[in-house]
Amino acid sequence: MSEHEQQEQGTTTVRPVVAVVGRPNVGKSTLVNRIIGRRAAVVQDVPGVTRDRVSYDARWNGREFVVVDTGGWAPDAQGMAAQIAEQAELAIAAADAVLLVVDATVGVQDVDEAVVRVLRRSRKPVVLAANKVDDQRTEAEAASMWNLGLGQPYPVSALHGRGSGDLLDAVLEALPEAPREAEEVPRGPRRVAIVGKPNVGKSSLLNKLSGQQRAVVDDASGTTVDPVDELVEIGGTTYQFIDTAGIRRRVKEASGHEYYASLRTQGAIERAEVCIVVIDASAPVTEQDLRILTMVEEAGRALVVAFNKWDLTDDERRFYLNREIERDMVQFGWAGHVNMSALTGRHVDRLGVAIEGALAAWETRVPTGKLNAFLGRVVAAHPHPVRSGKQPRILFGTQAQAGPPTFVLFTSGQIEPQYVRFVERRLREDFDFQGTPIHLEVRARE
Ligand code: GDP
Ligand code: GDP
Repeated sequence: MSEHEQQEQGTTTVRPVVAVVGRPNVGKSTLVNRIIGRRAAVVQDVPGVTRDRVSYDARWNGREFVVVDTGGWAPDAQGMAAQIAEQAELAIAAADAVLLVVDATVGVQDVDEAVVRVLRRSRKPVVLAANKVDDQRTEAEAASMWNLGLGQPYPVSALHGRGSGDLLDAVLEALPEAPREAEEVPRGPRRVAIVGKPNVGKSSLLNKLSGQQRAVVDDASGTTVDPVDELVEIGGTTYQFIDTAGIRRRVKEASGHEYYASLRTQGAIERAEVCIVVIDASAPVTEQDLRILTMVEEAGRALVVAFNKWDLTDDERRFYLNREIERDMVQFGWAGHVNMSALTGRHVDRLGVAIEGALAAWETRVPTGKLNAFLGRVVAAHPHPVRSGKQPRILFGTQAQAGPPTFVLFTSGQIEPQYVRFVERRLREDFDFQGTPIHLEVRARE
């Protein structure tokens, strides 16, 4: 199933990560290029040449996974074995399975054994590739790799492709179970929650949206909708509006008990994919408005802010509203917004476009190659400041999830929170995440 199809069906798949480790010059990069089906970009003949760790999207037998080329490293004072062990440890932190590459033509070296010890402690699944087996003659050397105690060595020639199919089969087998494909469940209408404090115009908006569209509810028989929800059509697309019963009944307990209103809001947000937070534009933005926005952000839902009662605003009020937005709502600057009036119907139709945009951003999947090209650019242009003589670095990243976009950055050393925020800002700009919160997770290796 292609990513596009997955998105169509509303399923998200966390792609497993395979780290390729081994001594310099055993053919890791050549093998990675073989796996991702591309001609070698840069394969250096010089041992120990510095390359950054990069990760790529790969696919074999219909399964998608991420390959991390642990590349080379700069030789420094440390012993080679120590460096390799360190590199292997990084791979362990990051990977679901490890592909250890050895050079069959030179046999097992001390450093290979050092890596093996680290791998064994990790208890991660390891697949052993005996590389440079270009012909039958070298097969025997590959067999000697059984000595490493990692099970069957797979003889391959990364250069010519020999044996790489069997190797990839073994890699897939070593990976955790594929997430079950959800093709039996076609996605229903997108779930939208209208939330906001009392009297901002939620039920007026719902009436405006659903007023002329009542027929949709009957047309869509067969679609299961909670009795408290309603199907509403906006601009030709049908949405499932969450907890409309609560909005329509204008739940009386809500006025007396803010706690229950807040629980109800929380519940609606949790069930929704995208939230419309209605704010009364004619009155100052309040703490309660900000709390609801925060609830949406923390729940990781797509967000559209509806500044309602626009018909009651004049130039002066709009001036102050802008000041309030700049002062109190900067952290929600990523949200889409619509200046509207549920009473007059002004710009109500724009909500559809805003909802679609927010959902599209919410479900964006950035291919690993593209993400790492981006990270490479950002890190090169703005390296992390040196701390106590050390240079913390982002080594590579991958998008672990969509809805909302969630990224995992693998780093060496502790990345400071400001730097993470900086990267997040750049991510937003580069990939246009308007309307969705994004999450960044950092996995550091000391
Ligand atoms: P890395 O340092 O482990 O990433 O190794 P590279 O992929 O850069 O390869 C090192 C050298 O080994 C290059 O000159 C490659 O062309 C060569 N090489 C890689 N795989 C094979 C192979 O299967 N057979 C032969 N004969 N040479 C290979
Ligand atoms: P809810 O408590 O958030 O569901 O708010 P309601 O929809 O009940 O609206 C509260 C009050 O604001 C009612 O008197 C509505 O008529 C009024 N109202 C809602 N939207 C607008 C609007 O866009 N413009 C104006 N002028 N009044 C509105």
